[in-house]
Amino acid sequence: MYESYSGYRLVTRLVVFFLVFLLVGVLIGHITLSLLIGSLILLFWNYRQLSRLNYWLWLDRRLTPPQGSGTWEGVFNGIYRLQGKNRRRVGQLASLLARFRQGAEALPDAAVVLDSELNIVWCNKLAQLSLGLVWPQDNGQRINNLIRHPDFASYLRKAKFDEPLELPSPASDSHLLEIRLMGYGDRQLLLIARDISRIRQLEGMRREFVANVSHELKTPLTVLQGYLEMMQDTIPEGDMNHHALSLMQQQSKRMKSMVEQLLVLSRIEDAVDIDLKHTISMSKLMKTLKEEAEALAQGNYILKFDYDDSIDPHGDELQLRSACSNLVSNAIRYTDEGGTITVSWRLVSTGAEFSVQDTGYGIAPQHIARLTERFYRVDDARSRKSGGTGLGLSIVKHALSHHHSELSVESELGKGSTFSFVIPTHLIE
Ligand code: ADP
Repeated sequence: MYESYSGYRLVTRLVVFFLVFLLVGVLIGHITLSLLIGSLILLFWNYRQLSRLNYWLWLDRRLTPPQGSGTWEGVFNGIYRLQGKNRRRVGQLASLLARFRQGAEALPDAAVVLDSELNIVWCNKLAQLSLGLVWPQDNGQRINNLIRHPDFASYLRKAKFDEPLELPSPASDSHLLEIRLMGYGDRQLLLIARDISRIRQLEGMRREFVANVSHELKTPLTVLQGYLEMMQDTIPEGDMNHHALSLMQQQSKRMKSMVEQLLVLSRIEDAVDIDLKHTISMSKLMKTLKEEAEALAQGNYILKFDYDDSIDPHGDELQLRSACSNLVSNAIRYTDEGGTITVSWRLVSTGAEFSVQDTGYGIAPQHIARLTERFYRVDDARSRKSGGTGLGLSIVKHALSHHHSELSVESELGKGSTFSFVIPTHLIE
């Protein structure tokens, strides 16, 4: 039995074989004839072994190779060994695949594996439930033939998968899905769909609650403020109660502006489908901003307005005005008297940029990323003193997101800040 390949053994056998025929040739006096017969026998024997191998490889159902002899025994056994190795490897791969599929089935989200042409390679049970896929019938189908929402088609076309896509479930209208696509394996894609109906429902309830509470608080606060003003008028200035009343009035004013800001924020958050075809007159908006800024600055600041009034953006006027006026009032409130505030509106390569630059207190880098969070203030005392609610930049962020834009902040502590945003070209007249 051949255990392994041995070139030395092969050559020895060949030499012995031909030596025998050479000897016979010498004995009978026909060396060439004898060697020729030997070669023919060898050729015939090799062809026979080759045909047995061929038969076994293509037609025979047995797993074990035919019994070979001589050099062919090594060949048969070698092939058999390779087959065994392959069978073990296939077994290992199959159990790995089974484990992967079990893992993907255990995911709380729908998972679909797509090839580079966006054809379905595999999907888990949740994908069948929430995306309405049928397995194995949908194997090999293009995903956008089965999920036919226009937003999904344009999401695939753009092929920018950093941001997730929100989509109503094709299987049930009452469910909202958050779809993410990520690169996977060899140019494949993994689609993960998560049911976010409950999260959205809770967010809606929270917004509604805040809006209702703010609305309900508005009337009692107005009444309180009215009476406080009236009482203050009747008490002489030097009186101890006069000071207490003016403090109460100051605080009720703060509370009222907070309630109003909360209402504005929830209104802006709710207004997702704004009319982006409406043209906003920027010269009118800038004039309003200028008047507001002058009223706030009361001649104590240098105000510079530099704008191109031929650039009119599309969008919601109230929202954009609210965003711009928050930025301008912040610039004044966080700058010492005598400082300079520069407001500009100009064309840039990606659209039109609105920017507010001040020479104020500036912001340390660690605070910048958190400025748009609700109630986030860098310096609580300073914000309170300047009448801040901590909601201004949150309003700006939401208003801008409805105009496909983002707030950008550059600031140096003690030197000043620049708050800016770019309205993209497709929203410019
Ligand atoms: P607030 O009502 O407190 O001003 P905002 O949401 O408008 O709330 O701003 C959040 C925080 O960002 C402020 O409390 C302030 O610390 C900081 N900030 C905003 N604008 C400026 C600015 N122009 N210069 C320095 N700090 C600023």
